Amino acid sequence: MVYTPSDSRLDRQSKLQSALPRSAATSPAQLSIPFNNPLITGRELEYIRQALTSKRTAGDGFFTQQCQALLTQQIGAKTTLMTHSCTAALEMAALLADLQPGDEVIMPSYTFVSTANAFVLRGAVPVFVDIRPDTLNLDESKVEAAITPRTKVIAPVHYAGVSCDMDSLMAIARQHNLLVVEDAAQGIFSAYQNRPVGSMGHLAAFSFHETKNIVSGEGGALVINDSALLERAEIIREKGTNRSKFFRGEVDKYTWVDLGSSYLPSDIICAFLLAQLEQGDCIIQQRMEIWNYYHQAFAALEQRGILRRPSIPADCQHNAHIYHLLTESLEVRTALMAHLKQQGIQSTFHYVPLHSAPAGLQYGCTSGNLSVTEDISDRLVRLPLGAAMTMAEATCVVEAVLEFLG
Ligand SMILES: *Cc1c(COP(=O)(O)O)cnc(C)c1O
Repeated sequence: MVYTPSDSRLDRQSKLQSALPRSAATSPAQLSIPFNNPLITGRELEYIRQALTSKRTAGDGFFTQQCQALLTQQIGAKTTLMTHSCTAALEMAALLADLQPGDEVIMPSYTFVSTANAFVLRGAVPVFVDIRPDTLNLDESKVEAAITPRTKVIAPVHYAGVSCDMDSLMAIARQHNLLVVEDAAQGIFSAYQNRPVGSMGHLAAFSFHETKNIVSGEGGALVINDSALLERAEIIREKGTNRSKFFRGEVDKYTWVDLGSSYLPSDIICAFLLAQLEQGDCIIQQRMEIWNYYHQAFAALEQRGILRRPSIPADCQHNAHIYHLLTESLEVRTALMAHLKQQGIQSTFHYVPLHSAPAGLQYGCTSGNLSVTEDISDRLVRLPLGAAMTMAEATCVVEAVLEFLG
């Protein structure tokens, strides 16, 4: 397999990475391909330095405002509030949903723990519903059967940055008067029918954790599309006080008015993030080239029934967050991962379904069978993918997979 990297890709990378020395991990002497390889785009240190020199490093400073404005525009959202993680944004969403103990939240079991934990912290019960076999997203055709008089929220997760069927989910939510909280941790700059992920639910939570597409080490944002929730969201984020109003000069002192916690990131984090957001298109493009290369390279194996590649519905524009393969069995996955490791290639599996985890058994319940979830979770493997990954590295990954399965 011979691949000639396009000049434009190399130009982009060398231009962007000149700000930082290249990591030792990419030196050819000792081949080692990390699972995650984020791109530092060049202005991160400059912005962080600016934040430090301004001596204004607490939350809601200049860079926080810049990130909020840019994200709101990029996502086509009503409002955005930066948080220190997607987990924090989900916890804010759970507070905004005003859940009472025993209220139910419909979600997939094939997701990260925070989707469930945020609601369990409020005494709510996660009701796990199966996923679609193609996108591995919440199966919208199984949601209505899970609705009871106690259901308050639907929390769809856009797995791998591929959007859920938001038209169906929003229609169900409208009919049953439910709040939709998008777990868009992986969905930055993805779209559904050309509408950005995060712009369709009442609320949406994004992550800028080191392993996501756009990074600030740790970081997150809560998007608020239902304006009725905005005032309370600001209060919850500011320790239950009306401090945001005070800063805008709308009240002459601030005080404790509601439940809340500290969900603001430092302005230093937002300085890092702003540099990333400004290069968002470039980062996605870099990832997409690797994703498309993998996809093409594994087409023949899929045709021969040896594995399954990701499946992207025609109305979804994804963001190349994950490239995963479904092997025939757990045994094949284990052996493939061992083979890759031997070649210095780091691959990873993904979630242990929440309904089968100790805390899931204690706090959650299931609706219907979760046969797709149970079937795929043992067979899914994620290949290395990152905006700073080179085409030479991707070629090594492809060759190693083909060598083992081909
Ligand atoms: C990463 C992730 C989270 C958590 O994001 P943090 O920013 O680390 O809190 C939540 N949900 C999903 C689906 C994720 O992938």
